[in-house]
Amino acid sequence: MTQAAALLQNLAAAGFVALGVAIAYRWYRERGRAQAMLALALITLAVVAALGRVGDPQHPLAVLSLVEIVGFLLSGYFVLLFRNEFIPLGSFAFQAANLLLAISIVVGILDVTALAHADPRVATVIVLEIIGAWAIFTGEPIARFWLASRNLPAVQRARMRFLSFGFAVLIAILFISVLGGSALRSPTAIVVTELVVLMVIPAIYVSFAPPALLRRIWRMGEEDELRAAIQDLLIFSPTREVLAERAATWAMRLLGGNAAFITDPDGKFIANAGIDPARAAHLMAEQRKNPLGAPDRVVAVPLPLTDGQGSLGVVAGPFSPVFGTEEITQLRAYASSVSAGLERARVTERMAAIESNKTQFLNLASHELRGPVTVIRGYVSMLEGGLLGHLNDRGRKAAAMMSAKASEMNELIDEMVEAARLEDGGLTLKLVESDLRDIARSATFSVAPLVDSRHQVDLDLPERRVRVKVDPDRTKTIIANLLSNAIKYSPNGGPITCHVRARAGIARVAVSDHGLGIAPQNLHMLFTRFGRVITPETEHLKGTGLGLFLGRQLARLQGGDITVISVPGKGSTFTLHLPSASAAEASANGATSSAHGAAGEERVHTNRRSTD
Ligand code: ADP
Repeated sequence: MTQAAALLQNLAAAGFVALGVAIAYRWYRERGRAQAMLALALITLAVVAALGRVGDPQHPLAVLSLVEIVGFLLSGYFVLLFRNEFIPLGSFAFQAANLLLAISIVVGILDVTALAHADPRVATVIVLEIIGAWAIFTGEPIARFWLASRNLPAVQRARMRFLSFGFAVLIAILFISVLGGSALRSPTAIVVTELVVLMVIPAIYVSFAPPALLRRIWRMGEEDELRAAIQDLLIFSPTREVLAERAATWAMRLLGGNAAFITDPDGKFIANAGIDPARAAHLMAEQRKNPLGAPDRVVAVPLPLTDGQGSLGVVAGPFSPVFGTEEITQLRAYASSVSAGLERARVTERMAAIESNKTQFLNLASHELRGPVTVIRGYVSMLEGGLLGHLNDRGRKAAAMMSAKASEMNELIDEMVEAARLEDGGLTLKLVESDLRDIARSATFSVAPLVDSRHQVDLDLPERRVRVKVDPDRTKTIIANLLSNAIKYSPNGGPITCHVRARAGIARVAVSDHGLGIAPQNLHMLFTRFGRVITPETEHLKGTGLGLFLGRQLARLQGGDITVISVPGKGSTFTLHLPSASAAEASANGATSSAHGAAGEERVHTNRRSTD
């Protein structure tokens, strides 16, 4: 056992030396004031551990013992200086620490000279004084580090805790071995103590330079948070400003900083979290002048945006810079997500502005046009009716043409008004229980004037009623638009059929033609606002691109939809799907249907923006 104890003591000393060498090497590669203090603390500790094994315990050399004592005290003092780099010590505390160091060194000198053969109790008091000083130098910082680590990102937190833990165990071992007296000098006690010391060595090393695998493990818990942050930015942030504010707050959390801000390429602040723009600007200027010297350090990473390079800055908290290189790399990666989010927000805002302009235009144009067109239609009908005098044949033809064109304009205005209402939530549906066959009949009738000799429209109706609860006028408009499109987009004529069927709780009206058809890559445009497929065959055909957009929106508001199957050159089938009245009732009972009109009539209001 004695041999095992000696072996372990040698191993522990060798471990400390290895720790010192490794840390010296790390420090050589990544130099910094604070790291230097911690490196000095650990290297002196390693030297002390090595000297402890070199000297002869039976005949200790005074010089060697003195170097050990002073080295030991200095290793603690450097830990205090390391702490001072983050949280500066007050001048009183500093003076007290210096005094304690001086007294302890004097006590150490007395110990190896005048009191070398003193009473064992005096010797214990001396050792306790020296260890006590070391414990104060190291104990206060590690308690602070432990407390401060609570609000820090995972990697920083773990590093600070490993450091605190390692030193706490060393303090405990030193006190226990001195106070435990001869009982703890037995070989078994030494084996246990040295095993614990051997475990502490890697813990301290890890706090100084954690391997990548460990950092990844520590960070695992934070991955979800980071993912949530990125998702929040990319999906949920409504405007560029809100997104930037959130991005700054997340950046602050990721880096464990005190504040964060985001600037545009022209240096304008678009977000500030925990700091006012003037202060942030001042810190950035300081940082530019003296990147390492400023006490309130700013970690700024570039933010690539389409119009140049902005920046994402985090005002480092007391511990962020030293324990944060890892997070700075993470922050850079995060900055690219922020850039993507900001760019997305910019595009969305631009699109929203364009959309809102379109709605404004629809509103304005339709309302401005409605009045004059009504007047024109009135006069044309008076002309046709002979109320303004007798017309010759040419005059009658002209009046009929004017009447047809005025009706076309009126339909167009109706579509525009409807689209504008849909956009601003002013559209109200009057749901009435109806027979879909009647609605299809009336729609077919309304397009009769468009049918010429080349076309033939067949209405295929089932014998039984097809009950639906819909707005009959709007549903008629939807079907009439499908029919008029079928006629319009089959310029070479051909049969057009309008099938009405109900199956499995769904009523369907399928309008098929043998016309131009639509290429698959253009299908996505059909139901968008103003979406028209312009090809050499269709470019001369008049249209607004509003009909199918409105049709689908109105169908969806009534619990249905419109789908399309089309083969270029062969023809298309557009199908309006609507819930059968029984199915509609069932879903209406489950839903929170608010506004009700007269008996058997239900109103549905819109107040959502339509996107597709
Ligand atoms: P409009 O007919 O006024 O242009 P719609 O919204 O009704 O607007 O239709 C949008 C586009 O869909 C049309 O411009 C046309 O390109 C295409 N389309 C609609 N119906 C048919 C059809 N039956 N056959 C071929 N293309 C069609």
